[in-house]
Amino acid sequence: MSKYQPEYFHQQAADALANPQLRQNFRGAMDYLQDKRKAAFADAKEESAIRDKAEAIRQRCLRKLPELLEQLEANCTANGIQVHWAENAEDANALFLSIAQSVHSPSDQPLLMIKGKSMVSEEINLNQQMARHDIQCLESDMGEYIIQLDGDTPSHIIMPAIHKNKQQVSDTFAGHLDGFTPTTDVDALIQTGRQQLREKFRTAPIGVSGVNFAVAETGTLCLVENEGNGRMCTTVPDTHIAVTGIEKVVEFLSDVPPLYSALTRSATGQAITTYFNMISSPRKPGELDGPKAVHLILLDNGRTQAYHDNETRQTLQCIRCGACMNHCPVYTRIGGHAYGTVYPGPIGKILSPHLLGLEATQDLVTASSLCGACEEVCPVRIPIPSLLQRLRHDAKLAQEPGHLPLRGQQCAASKTEQIMMKAFTLAATHAPLYHSGTWLAGQVRNWLPARFGSWTQCRTPPKPAALSFHHLMKKKQKGQQ
Ligand code: SF4
Repeated sequence: MSKYQPEYFHQQAADALANPQLRQNFRGAMDYLQDKRKAAFADAKEESAIRDKAEAIRQRCLRKLPELLEQLEANCTANGIQVHWAENAEDANALFLSIAQSVHSPSDQPLLMIKGKSMVSEEINLNQQMARHDIQCLESDMGEYIIQLDGDTPSHIIMPAIHKNKQQVSDTFAGHLDGFTPTTDVDALIQTGRQQLREKFRTAPIGVSGVNFAVAETGTLCLVENEGNGRMCTTVPDTHIAVTGIEKVVEFLSDVPPLYSALTRSATGQAITTYFNMISSPRKPGELDGPKAVHLILLDNGRTQAYHDNETRQTLQCIRCGACMNHCPVYTRIGGHAYGTVYPGPIGKILSPHLLGLEATQDLVTASSLCGACEEVCPVRIPIPSLLQRLRHDAKLAQEPGHLPLRGQQCAASKTEQIMMKAFTLAATHAPLYHSGTWLAGQVRNWLPARFGSWTQCRTPPKPAALSFHHLMKKKQKGQQ
């Protein structure tokens, strides 16, 4: 369990703001990523065309999601990939465990799973859950490997160790790796990590990966990466387990290149990544490499809640590029850990309420100035500020019969607020009551307190008018008669 929790967002954010090293690390990294994206989208017309196309593809695929998932399952199965469905994190971990237990470990050592980068595996807390059954999950993405050594969690969805500078990485290695000579030479640090991992790839019986795009038309799993560790995880061990959210399905193979281009340019400013892996089946007879078994775990974990509503469904368009985080004035100052959720920043604020419920995440949806920087850079044009406003509204909104509520709906409305809203509804729907109320408010306007809670700490509370519009009109009519 992470030491950071969304319930403690305010304190965690204050701690992050008071940490000058953390702020310096984030400022430097975010400026770098912003510049890279800007250079990759130098032509505004081209940028707009790429984003239009990516948005249209994601919206089409989400409209057909149930059919596409069935098609994906049928084609993966026909290709020899075993497909499993997980409603929540518990189900997904149970599936991992049962697959792991069916795999023979080559020695009496704990069973080893070597992992490529996967935010969904963070979402289900895979490493900690497997450790309870004496199964070791070793991270092989360099950023993930560094933070795993420290017992830390990712602070960014594509750059998990971005909160650390090279001196801090050297300190981490010095604290955990025998014979390491402290250095701030980045190449030497990378080589050190690689040497540690190389042997593990060879001996691990299970490789784990995420999925960037799952193609329904062909039953193909696409994986985008820069380090080559994803390819190692999916080809060297005898068993490969891919885990992903149900929203990652796309209809056609031809949908992938436009989304891939939008993803890499937005994420790291690259035209393409160093590696692009397409996994369509386990090893076939006569092939020299590849896993003997491939499993695909498709996870819901709250995504169908977002899917059921046309507005919140747009959340699922996300292709996890991280650009909204890199440009968010809140994220760039407090970093990822303060949010206390696996997905931090703007995307985390609109996705986490579906994964964890609004009650646990009610402060996160308010942690935005609604400046719109996230929407301006999102390659699939998710209207993040509007979705935040919708979630803020739902956090106060009573459940209505006939409407599917969001988990935790009305959590942010205090008992006093609920009673006041009920009283207002009653008054607003009964004219005599309403007129008496506005008349009374006008009579007591000078005795009202100067402050009404935190909202008025830096604002002057409005005063009721001495006479309501209705009373003024009545008076005027009387004068005219
Ligand atoms: S919401 Fe948009 S910008 Fe943010 S991670 Fe998802 S695709 Fe990228």
